[in-house]
Amino acid sequence: MTTDYPVIIVGAGMAGLTCAVYLKQAGIDALLLEADDAAGGRVRTDVVDGFRLDRGFQILLTAYPEARRLLNYTALDLKGFRSGALIRQPDTDKPNAWISMVNPFQEPTSVFQTLVSPVGTMGDKLRIIELLRKTQELPLDDLFHQTPTTTLAFLRANGFSEQIIDRFFRPFFGGVFLEDALNTSSNFFEFCFRMFFTGGAAVPAQGIGAIPTQLTGRLSPDQLRLNSPVDRLEGRTLTLGNGQTLSADHVILAVDAAQAARLTGHAIPSQQAFTHTTCSYFAAPVSPDNKQLLMLNPHRASAVHNLAVVSDVAPGYAPARQSLISVSTQGLETVNEEALTERIFRELTTWFGEEVSQWRYLRAYHIPQALPAYTPYSVHQPLQLGNNLYQCGDWTAYPSLNAAMQTGRQVAELIIHKEG
Ligand SMILES: Cc1cc2nc3c(=O)[nH]c(=O)nc-3n(C[C@H](O)[C@H](O)[C@H](O)COP(=O)(O)OP(=O)(O)OC[C@H]3O[C@@H](n4cnc5c(N)ncnc54)[C@H](O)[C@@H]3O)c2cc1C
Repeated sequence: MTTDYPVIIVGAGMAGLTCAVYLKQAGIDALLLEADDAAGGRVRTDVVDGFRLDRGFQILLTAYPEARRLLNYTALDLKGFRSGALIRQPDTDKPNAWISMVNPFQEPTSVFQTLVSPVGTMGDKLRIIELLRKTQELPLDDLFHQTPTTTLAFLRANGFSEQIIDRFFRPFFGGVFLEDALNTSSNFFEFCFRMFFTGGAAVPAQGIGAIPTQLTGRLSPDQLRLNSPVDRLEGRTLTLGNGQTLSADHVILAVDAAQAARLTGHAIPSQQAFTHTTCSYFAAPVSPDNKQLLMLNPHRASAVHNLAVVSDVAPGYAPARQSLISVSTQGLETVNEEALTERIFRELTTWFGEEVSQWRYLRAYHIPQALPAYTPYSVHQPLQLGNNLYQCGDWTAYPSLNAAMQTGRQVAELIIHKEG
């Protein structure tokens, strides 16, 4: 049977793009079919009134091995947050009631300030150093082969106090996992912990969407078809939403779990629940705080869970003489935008005082399917489904950009090996 393309990749998120780039490097031009009006999947940036709004607050951990291998950091002009966080003191309405917890490995002069901060006990801080040593000893792949438990159980078993769990680990890693119960697998926690403490947390100068744009730029323009949802898959023939059929020697599904299951007729893996988040953006005439640290609120019943003045770190996110503030709220099933914004304004006035009345609301992104839940019971999914059928994406491994890139690369290697 003659086919139209050597490889068709369904979905141009980070996994699909990565796969296409590695195939291209090996001389195989794959066709990417993307349902949406741009590539990037969950990694996109909109420009609104001159502000760059990422679709949900999102950072690149520069220590990600797959990112180091694939991305050109210099061309992305990465802008780094300081490593650590400002943590809001509990039970206070006082403005400026912040404790800083700065990574002493990256800012050694902060070590004393961090050690005496009331975020946790002295023993907690020594345990953090011990945990860092332990997570660095293991080869990265082995981190995911340990018998996992939940992050919360892991922290308790490692002797951390409830105080540091509630004041630091829950707001910080709850913001990474997008779930506060810390039910996420301890293996993923150890991976993230190591990435945070050994590298930087950064955004590209022009927005997180610059990452998929960099990958798209390595492909020929005719390799990417936008607004092209795939409706059906029969053997190696795909039917698009407009009725067109295309065939390929190899078909790769770089879509979410539900779409992959629909196209293959397989069952959706049982762990496929999602965490959700809402990201609200505000414009301010001046930055409320120029410490370039994430601001965490341990009081999780609030509307403001995490806050970042993104333009302090990456000035290109805002027009001149303006600041861009991103506020993340986790766990809302549905969002009444007006009520949420009003609550955020009210809470932030207790944080920063009357200057908040000068802020302008820009837009909110409610993302009901932000991250595939990754619990101790989650099982990594096979990347090869049949002779010429493959799948990749964060949901097949663990929820991060690194996993999307890793599985995209691995599928490309399977095909290169077969064709080579
Ligand atoms: C708010 C938020 C914050 C995050 N924060 C971080 C972070 O700080 N650090 C980090 O590492 N990760 C973070 N992530 C996770 C990261 O963005 C994802 O792990 C990664 O982008 C997943 O890429 P993917 O290619 O696997 O899937 P997706 O990005 O979901 O791509 C799938 C693509 O398939 C397309 N598609 C689906 N069905 C079809 C069809 N039938 N036909 C054609 N196309 C189809 C979709 O339109 C989409 O473009 C965050 C995610 C969100 C949403």
